[in-house]
Amino acid sequence: MITAVGRLRRRSGERIVEAEGGLLLPGLHDHHLHFFAYAAARASVRCGPPAVAGESELMDALNHAEGSGWLRGVGYHEHVAGDIDRAWLDRHGPARPVRLQHRSGRLWILNSRAMQALGLHAPADGRLFDQDELLRSTPLTGAEIGDASRALARLGITAFTDMTPRNDKNTNASFRGRQAAGDVLQKVTLAGRLADGISLRKFHLHDDHLPAFDAFCDDIAAAHARDMPIAVHAVTELSLVFTLSALERVGTHSGDRIEHASVVPPALLPAIAARGVTIVTQPNFVRERGDAYRQDIAADEHGWLYRGRAFLQHGIPLAAGTDAPFGEADPWAAMQAAVDRRTAAGAELGAGEALSPEAALGLFLGAAQTPARPRKLAAGEPADLCLLDRSWTQAREDLSRVGVRATWIDGQLCQPGVH
Ligand SMILES: [Zn+2]
Repeated sequence: MITAVGRLRRRSGERIVEAEGGLLLPGLHDHHLHFFAYAAARASVRCGPPAVAGESELMDALNHAEGSGWLRGVGYHEHVAGDIDRAWLDRHGPARPVRLQHRSGRLWILNSRAMQALGLHAPADGRLFDQDELLRSTPLTGAEIGDASRALARLGITAFTDMTPRNDKNTNASFRGRQAAGDVLQKVTLAGRLADGISLRKFHLHDDHLPAFDAFCDDIAAAHARDMPIAVHAVTELSLVFTLSALERVGTHSGDRIEHASVVPPALLPAIAARGVTIVTQPNFVRERGDAYRQDIAADEHGWLYRGRAFLQHGIPLAAGTDAPFGEADPWAAMQAAVDRRTAAGAELGAGEALSPEAALGLFLGAAQTPARPRKLAAGEPADLCLLDRSWTQAREDLSRVGVRATWIDGQLCQPGVH
């Protein structure tokens, strides 16, 4: 815990860390990510553009990958080497179980060793569609999980909320086990199914198969009856209206959130404010996907995408998460995108939605249950801290350049950049 803040006398045996003018902050909280998928993505070989463009490059990538156990490939696209199959992988890939995921996420291509390891006989070509349940039986190693957690610690992240919809009591048990083993350093809050160990009931809405409205309302009410807030994945105007209508009927529970709220026409801002629901946004998508949005979405709607300022002006509680691995895990790059609203190619997207650097930082400073309320360094708070490599005056010039010198979780130095 933080026990005192101010000009303090050194007590005997106390260690002093010289911050050299760097800003000390409460540790960051990523309010929306998918941790195990992030760890798997870090431990995977990129098998598609831009990293891999042709057949010989794919062979190189697969055969030069480190390790001897399972090899996961991600991002495959037939532009690279056509409709490759088990025979292709056996002939050109390494002598270890290989599973290669298509960019669509729906197709896996397995070699013979992988089929054997999973006890599969069919299909003969090793091409499996929509078999995620089966393929989850190739778990990550402690080292792979530890690598992902340390990468987050290096960014100053001391806690995260995992938003994977299928999270349940087993997921909770695996996180607690990984924390006990020291592989997962961060504090973890889970969204997911209605189950023990899950703090937020997650709903994933898709426009082409929305649930029946009454059933959706009942499910929300059932979560609220267990004193559990809800988190609804809503990336379209339709799913947003659907969610707001349901909340209007059953009422909002404190802590209810809408994930993404990617497209918000002006008329819906007062409706969101009236429901008192928190928005958890991904400003990094302005940078990472903004160029595609500028091509695909009508110009007069660009200002409706991943809004920032309009939410704050309407008094809507706002927090952020990176959605890693579907977005880049770096919260500092996300904050800067919230400030400059620049796409990767440098174009502006919704410049009117820009936040101040202070507001952008605040998106990642909230606690799990109160994501839109920035924590402060104060006596009595948990000693979850990150020390920046620069002052705030320097940091606010370009948040994406901020480096984290040290991260503490419950007072334990877990990213030693200081001596
Ligand atoms: Zn997500």
